[in-house]
Amino acid sequence: MSSYDVIIIGSGPGGYVCAIRCAQLGLKTAVVEGRETLGGTCLNIGCIPSKALLHASHMRHEAEHNFAAMGLKGKTQSVDWKQMMSYKNETIAANTKGIEFLFKKNKIDWLKGWGSIPEAGKVKVGEDVHDAKNIIIASGSEVSSLNGVEIDEKTVVSSTGALELAKIPKKMIVIGAGVIGLELGSVYKRLGAAVTVIEYLDAITPGMDAEVQKAFKKLLTKQGLEFIMGAAVQGVEAKNNKATVSYKLRKDDSEHTLDADTVLVSTGRRPFTDGLGLAALGVEMSQRGQIKTDAHYKTNIDGIYALGDCIDGPMLAHKAEDEGMACAEGLAGQKPHVNYGVIPGVIYTHPEVANVGKTEEQLKEDGHDYKVGKFSFMGNGRAKANFAGDGFVKILADKATDRILGAHIIGPMAGDLIHEICVAMEFGAASEDLARTCHAHPTYSEAVREAALACGDGAIHA
Ligand code: FAD
Repeated sequence: MSSYDVIIIGSGPGGYVCAIRCAQLGLKTAVVEGRETLGGTCLNIGCIPSKALLHASHMRHEAEHNFAAMGLKGKTQSVDWKQMMSYKNETIAANTKGIEFLFKKNKIDWLKGWGSIPEAGKVKVGEDVHDAKNIIIASGSEVSSLNGVEIDEKTVVSSTGALELAKIPKKMIVIGAGVIGLELGSVYKRLGAAVTVIEYLDAITPGMDAEVQKAFKKLLTKQGLEFIMGAAVQGVEAKNNKATVSYKLRKDDSEHTLDADTVLVSTGRRPFTDGLGLAALGVEMSQRGQIKTDAHYKTNIDGIYALGDCIDGPMLAHKAEDEGMACAEGLAGQKPHVNYGVIPGVIYTHPEVANVGKTEEQLKEDGHDYKVGKFSFMGNGRAKANFAGDGFVKILADKATDRILGAHIIGPMAGDLIHEICVAMEFGAASEDLARTCHAHPTYSEAVREAALACGDGAIHA
């Protein structure tokens, strides 16, 4: 039984970043985590393992498709799935152990076990009750399946099961064309599976700029992914290591079935707050099960805060991290601010897709007068040399002031390139500011500059 300035429940990117910041600011801090390892969804069953498999499968794709053209000849790679899983697991371990090291370095206590809040100011872990001046809930999210679809994590899997399949399936069906479904669908396609994506809507990756959605779907189709759009899944039946998905096409109500060895259900995630005792405490929740907070992450109960996937906003690791830092700084008496208008979103397929700020559709809906600067990676020397000419950079800027309102990139390293535009937006920059900034040659970043030039007098290499 100890007494703390802050106890954080959950060690995902929201919780662990918050803990480190609290400790750096002199607050006595503990983190409750029920999992065997620190790092939450992101490090254990999310961002990190999925990126390891995306990297490995992309390397295979490069070896198969581009090595010979560069004069790199010889034995084609074969996939040792067990070794690929070990590589993924070692990547997870290196990262989760890294957080343990950071906790020790910053003198943060890890209270091992599942926590609950019997009353404000107290956190119960097992039989122990600890005192805390402030409690921060960073309990994250869990998979949300479809009605009537039972996930067994063997044949019908969530993203968690998809990251540790016993073998590479011959046929895979992905239900839901969102970020997670397309990333993991790409992995198994590159490893040799026939992958069909079934999506309820008429476009993939809902909420993304429509021009990028179209280009992205075209590129994924070129890579061999198949799409069934406008299809409402009715059910999934699993038997003898096979599954049958039944669906209805929304355009004519016709009913169809499709078989596969593995079905990945990637239809979203929902906040996870089970077992915390929030109802008894009277913590206000939204209809979607999110904990309601004010702008300083405080719930309606004094001394209890919440952040990350379990509150409103995009379910992204870096959003949770920013909230973690801001919440800690607020508790230490600072005046932090998270700019929710400049939170990038990235899809780590190949090519990558990244966006920040407004889409063209949103600007039209807002009646905002805007201009578009676009540049294709085909005009970028580095991309051409690296077989990475697919895609483009699109910058949206205010027509009168030239201030950047949004950016959408599909192309090589899009997830890294987007940050130049994020920084520009944070500083309220005009597209001309980007266009007049010298960019090293030959880099993919030159495509960003060219798109900014295209907002003005014109790109050079278009
Ligand atoms: P979480 O990371 O979910 O952590 C919450 C932790 O709290 C968990 O470890 C849980 O065990 C613990 N916990 C909960 N309740 C209790 C309790 N009562 N007692 C003790 N411990 C408790 N986001 C990105 O930004 N980029 C990506 O590339 C990306 N890829 C993803 C890929 C996949 C397959 C998935 C599933 C998600 C991905 N995400 C990605 C989303 C990202 O993982 C989440 O947005 C992020 O982890 C949220 O952080 P968090 O701290 O809010 O919660």
